[in-house]
Amino acid sequence: MIDTHCHIDLHDRPLDAISKFTSRQMECVSVTMLPSHYKLSLPHLEAYDNIHASLGLHPLRAREGKRELAQFIQLAKAAEYIGEIGLDFSRDGKSTRALQEEMFAEVLPSLKGGKFVSVHSRESAKKLLEMLSEARVAPVCFHYFTGAPSLAQEVIQAGHYMSFNLRMLTGRHKSLLSQVPAERVLIESDAPFLTESPHLAVANAYSTVAKHWGITLPEAEGLISRNFLRCRTARDITC
Ligand SMILES: [Zn+2]
Repeated sequence: MIDTHCHIDLHDRPLDAISKFTSRQMECVSVTMLPSHYKLSLPHLEAYDNIHASLGLHPLRAREGKRELAQFIQLAKAAEYIGEIGLDFSRDGKSTRALQEEMFAEVLPSLKGGKFVSVHSRESAKKLLEMLSEARVAPVCFHYFTGAPSLAQEVIQAGHYMSFNLRMLTGRHKSLLSQVPAERVLIESDAPFLTESPHLAVANAYSTVAKHWGITLPEAEGLISRNFLRCRTARDITC
C-alpha cells in the first residue's frame, strides 16, 4: 500500500510513523512545506527505500517560500517527488493569492521529467488546472480535492489523478469516488492533519475503495500501485 500524501516531518514522532510504514511494507510520499524542510529531511529518509522525500513549497507558506524559490528550482532538478505545492484561495490563503500564482508559474517548468507531483487545490482547482494545462504539465495528483463535480471531470479529462483520504471517503465528499475512474485513484492519509496513525488510515481507505469497486483488497492494491507508477509527469521530448 502507498500513502501518497503524508507530512512525516510534522508528526510528534516522525521515526515512529516511518517504522510503522516500514514494518507493514507500505510506501509513503513524505511531503514537505518548504525546500529547507525537504533538505533537512533527506539525511533521515535516505536509509528507507519505501519513504520518498518530496520537495514542497506550500501555498500557505508563500511569504517564507518566496525566499526559498531559487532553492526549490535548484533542488527540483534531482527530486523525483514534488509536493506539497499548489494554490490556496480559501480565507487562509487569499491574502497571498497574487504571490502564490506568481510563484507557481515559476515552479511549473521544474515539474516535468517523470516526477510524482502532489498538489493542493483548496478553492483554487480551476486556476491550478488552467496553469498546469498552459504549461503542459501532466499528469499530477490532486490531493484532497473538494471542488465541484464538473471541475472533477475537467481534472480527470486533463489526465490527472486524485488522492483520496478516509475523510473524503466517508464524509460529505464521498460521492466523488463514483465520479473518478478507478485507474485515476490514489490513497493518502494527509497525516498528521487528518490522523495520527497514517498506516491505519491508509489501510482503512484501501479497504473502503476495494469494497466500493467490488474487488478484493489485493486487487485494489495492484490497481492503485499501477496508478502510482503511471502518475508521473511527462518527460519533455524537446530536451
Ligand atoms: Zn498536505
